[in-house]
Amino acid sequence: MSDWEDEYDEGGVAIDKPVPKKREKEGSSNGWSGHFELQNDRGPPCSRGDRWSSGANSWRSKDSLEACDQKLRGIGICDSTKRWRGGRNGGERSGSTPPMSLVVVNSSIGAIIGRGGANIRELEGGSGARIKINRGDFEGEVLIFGSSDAQQKAREMIEELLQQGPGSGPVGRSSGSGGGGGGRSESCWPASAVRCSDDPTPPPIDWVSLRENRHKYEATKWRDLPPIQKEFYAETESVASRSVEEVQAWRKENNNIFVDDLKEEVKRPLPNPVCTFAEAFQHYPEIMENIARVRFTKPTPIQSQAWPIVLKGFDLIGIAQTGTGKTLAYLLPGFIHMDQQPVPRDRRDGPGMLVLTPTRELALQIEAECNKYSYKGFTSVCIYGGGDRRAQIRVTASGVDIVIATPGRLNDLQMNEHINLRSVTYLVLDEADRMLDMGFEPQIMKIILDIRPDRQTVMTSATWPPGVRRLAKSYLKDPMMVYVGTLDLAAVNTVEQAVLIVQEEEKKAYVYDFIHNMEPEDKVLIFVGKKLVADDLSSDLCLRGIAVQSLHGDREQCDREEALQDFKDGRVRILVATDLASRGLDVHDITHVFNYDFPRNVEEYVHRVGRTGRAGRSGVAVTLVTRADWKWASELIHILERAGQTVPEELVLMAERHEKHQREKEANAPRTRGGGGGGGGGRGGRPGGGGGRGGRAWDRGESSWWF
Ligand code: AMP
Repeated sequence: MSDWEDEYDEGGVAIDKPVPKKREKEGSSNGWSGHFELQNDRGPPCSRGDRWSSGANSWRSKDSLEACDQKLRGIGICDSTKRWRGGRNGGERSGSTPPMSLVVVNSSIGAIIGRGGANIRELEGGSGARIKINRGDFEGEVLIFGSSDAQQKAREMIEELLQQGPGSGPVGRSSGSGGGGGGRSESCWPASAVRCSDDPTPPPIDWVSLRENRHKYEATKWRDLPPIQKEFYAETESVASRSVEEVQAWRKENNNIFVDDLKEEVKRPLPNPVCTFAEAFQHYPEIMENIARVRFTKPTPIQSQAWPIVLKGFDLIGIAQTGTGKTLAYLLPGFIHMDQQPVPRDRRDGPGMLVLTPTRELALQIEAECNKYSYKGFTSVCIYGGGDRRAQIRVTASGVDIVIATPGRLNDLQMNEHINLRSVTYLVLDEADRMLDMGFEPQIMKIILDIRPDRQTVMTSATWPPGVRRLAKSYLKDPMMVYVGTLDLAAVNTVEQAVLIVQEEEKKAYVYDFIHNMEPEDKVLIFVGKKLVADDLSSDLCLRGIAVQSLHGDREQCDREEALQDFKDGRVRILVATDLASRGLDVHDITHVFNYDFPRNVEEYVHRVGRTGRAGRSGVAVTLVTRADWKWASELIHILERAGQTVPEELVLMAERHEKHQREKEANAPRTRGGGGGGGGGRGGRPGGGGGRGGRAWDRGESSWWF
């Protein structure tokens, strides 16, 4: 098994994945699933039945609820009293009984809630338990808090309610009462959508009514929302008067910036870029003061084009990597957005801005960026796995305006009702491609379900693969897209890229030689593929008396922070890191990137190289390529050529050998498909292509950005 750093927890720590336990499918998904599960937020649910395959020493293997409880206590779940928040009816507030979890299809949830929550109120009153409902994609989860008696009572009442069908009115007070209402048909939930899975012949899924129900549910859920304001842009005379030719020339000169309106029917005019800070923020003196304080001279390309779009209230997709100024591109309009909402800050019961970001390093970096600017006294909190959960909850509870979070930890706080996201009107999905790579899609989905649908959303991503498009299509409304060409290395002409073809066993000699020749002011980030290699190489260097730090996902959070700080502050000038550091690290004075191991793909190569040559400085990237990396040779050549770099003859030979090998392989392979095949490439990565095969979508005359 490889120990490439490709499995992360919500905070970016690499994890060992347990072998997934298969969950037996029981009953139909079209109705009450008829089983009860004890759940916790650290592991998979354990159930009353034999629903989980047993393992020799797995706590999931027991088939009795009591044994399961014990196991939960054994691993310290049941004693987290504050998490199992007791019912407001007083039942077992000590929290010693974990919540009972019932899984129901979404269409049944309405029957449980009842009109205006009437059934829930009755249920809670009648049983002494507290009910919480988490709605999933197709199924929802009903959590019952309180003493085991109360839970049991509530469960029976819910069961009864579901059996009565969706037309049931408020439930009766006692578990045996049979509830009220009976055939009263005041619920909007059709009977066909609610079935008990014990029914031997489950009816076919009625998708139409499910969809209708969803819309009705959505409408009910967001019925009482306060108004939202999104448009704050007043185009200056200077911006408005720019001719089409001037705008085109400006975009070309500024990293070949590309703007498009992804609204599908009628296209809107694309806002002209702003060329000065005043053109965007002249009506916001406090923003102008901040900019003067940090002494930025002009907006970066993405800022120039993104600010008018976001200030106009449109959703935005920014295809740009860290280092392009993208954080400020969404932060400053976000400040204005929050400040100008019709509901004053002190009457909102939660944050106004949420920034979701893949790793704790990025989260901390965004927080640091946020803290550089003071605007109307807005406060922020950084919520990430590995950080002090209690402190995060405390700060959140004290009332913050901006939440910067990794999806896993935020979802944890959200599920446990430590944070209310209904007040969020400005959502940022930062480095969306990385979040998807790290498997955060389910958490993102759950988080966004609790955020009002008419919010403003900004999404940034370094690439534009199908997963990111899908995410954009699901969560952004008629967005505009700004693509900054720096990802395409043709524009990063400040980085000199050297490629050396070496043998695997020669690599150490090369890196020692490189370090030996470093100038005192040089600062190098050495990228390796595996955590083991990072440890091995950094300890070798230490033994040679060379000051070095290492950064990878197996290190403790505090060590990671210290390593990064040492490197930033120049206490060490060599950092050995895995690709955990390939994106987002904002260290201005890295003079060299040394690719000891070739990355997993050329996109990661682009990110790594982008760690140097920042903020207008020049940089050098040295990359060791071995025979094992030959499949990347042709794409690498293309990148080098576009960036005007020297392509070593050996690399060309390597690419040719690989192509020949591929041709031979294809010729010998049994034909499984008809048609032309050929061409390959098609990694569908970023709009800018980069592999040379795809090119930009607009170059290829594609009409849609979506798929
Ligand atoms: P980001 O791409 O957001 O990680 O930003 C990279 C760095 O550029 C951060 O340190 C920012 O403070 C800095 N920065 C952002 N905007 C500007 C600007 N307009 N001029 C100079 N530096 C900037």
